[in-house]
Amino acid sequence: MPLRFHNTLTQQLEEFQPLDGKTVRMYTCGPTVYSYVHIGNFRTFSFQDILRRTLRARGYALDHVMNITDVEDKIIRNAVAAGQSIQDYTAQYTEAFLADSAALRLERPERIVLATEHIHDMTEAISKLSASNHTYESDGSTYFRIGSFPSYGKLSKINLSGNIAGARVDVDEYEKDDARDFVLWKARKPGEPAWDAPMGEGRPGWHIECSVMAMKYLGETIDIHTGGVDLVFPHHENEIAQSEALTGKQFVRYWLHAEHLMVEGQKMSKSLGNFYTLRDILDRGYSPESVRYLLISAPYRKQLNFTFDGLKGAAASIDRLRNFEMRLTGEAFPGGENPEMTSRAAEAAAAFDAALDDDLNTSGALAAVFECIRDANTAMDAGAFLAANKAGARALLDHFDSIFDVLKPTITASSLSDADIDALVTERTLAKKSKDFTRADAIRAELLDKGIIIEDTREGVRWKRK
Ligand code: AMP
Ligand code: ZN
Repeated sequence: MPLRFHNTLTQQLEEFQPLDGKTVRMYTCGPTVYSYVHIGNFRTFSFQDILRRTLRARGYALDHVMNITDVEDKIIRNAVAAGQSIQDYTAQYTEAFLADSAALRLERPERIVLATEHIHDMTEAISKLSASNHTYESDGSTYFRIGSFPSYGKLSKINLSGNIAGARVDVDEYEKDDARDFVLWKARKPGEPAWDAPMGEGRPGWHIECSVMAMKYLGETIDIHTGGVDLVFPHHENEIAQSEALTGKQFVRYWLHAEHLMVEGQKMSKSLGNFYTLRDILDRGYSPESVRYLLISAPYRKQLNFTFDGLKGAAASIDRLRNFEMRLTGEAFPGGENPEMTSRAAEAAAAFDAALDDDLNTSGALAAVFECIRDANTAMDAGAFLAANKAGARALLDHFDSIFDVLKPTITASSLSDADIDALVTERTLAKKSKDFTRADAIRAELLDKGIIIEDTREGVRWKRK
């Protein structure tokens, strides 16, 4: 069966192929960097990581753009309160977001772009929309007239009857039953950052930034656009209206939306105060790969309830996988090949792929791998797992980990014993001897990152904790 995704636009499971057959052009709404990103946000970003890895595993190249929203109502409010410029204020949270993403092993999109570096592109787009009668001005701000775009509502299936006459909003986020003319350009207010523009000094609304940056880098029609379900309305509906009003062409072919991470029946969110950042969770002694596993273990279109028991379960599942890997590499198996076991591993790899092809069914993919591991463990106990079966089992683990990426433990200062450090130092020395300086430097950098300093002395290599 081919790769299929559920498209929010058509509400159907559809076979996926990029427009040009080779490269997937994909856009992701990135974080608004007014604070630390929470693990609810990371559920959506982790789904995008599984999507990326699956697309590549199916042979496609990727051109993936993610924006960073670095000018917005909450950012301005917080930066003013902190006595900082919005640049300084947002830089620290952008960095934290990238560091947390790396800790969760999320592949970096090919391009990460900042809203504030595209203001000119946005004012040009707004001028074009004005020239084609899609906007109006009021009190120095410019609004998109949704009545000028007849298919407004096609993504969220909102019913517009009697809702829109003359009503408009100045804020970037609003409720689903509030279909309103939305702001493209906000008139300057005292104390707020502002840019010069043909429509007067001011700053962009949130929605225009994504339309402009997506089309600038990816073209007028892109293959995939992702985000969490809370972005369907109004943000993505507004992106469609702006983009298609500008080009007259379909903006996005496949819209993919991740369901929420929940806490006791409610969406994890800043405003409800029921959130955890990755840092909060690591401070409690959990590993980043346990968080990663938990976030990706349920299919992205199902709500996932966050509990610490769930996190413990994720850690236990990773242990099961690692224990199997240890048996596989450490135990001596009788010679020969058990053909049943060989086909069992191949079947599991095929079932793993089939599950991912089915709209990224991660729980189905995990089940395929765990069932095979259970059978392999039983066979090992019974002496029926033979030396020539190792390769197939290894291949299955590698295949699994190229998508899930949880097998390798994260090294942290507290998890590193003296013996672990000695082993890494020896590995570095060997890497240097075999002229693998990239690996040698990587080990030094990794250790330094964990607060361990290596010194090359005449007597040999020494290390100390900072
Ligand atoms: P924001 O910074 O609020 O724009 O959110 C960044 C991304 O996280 C968006 O794609 C949101 O849809 C998504 N998001 C926010 N809260 C949650 C949640 N509780 N579970 C999953 N995704 C979320
Ligand atoms: Zn967006």
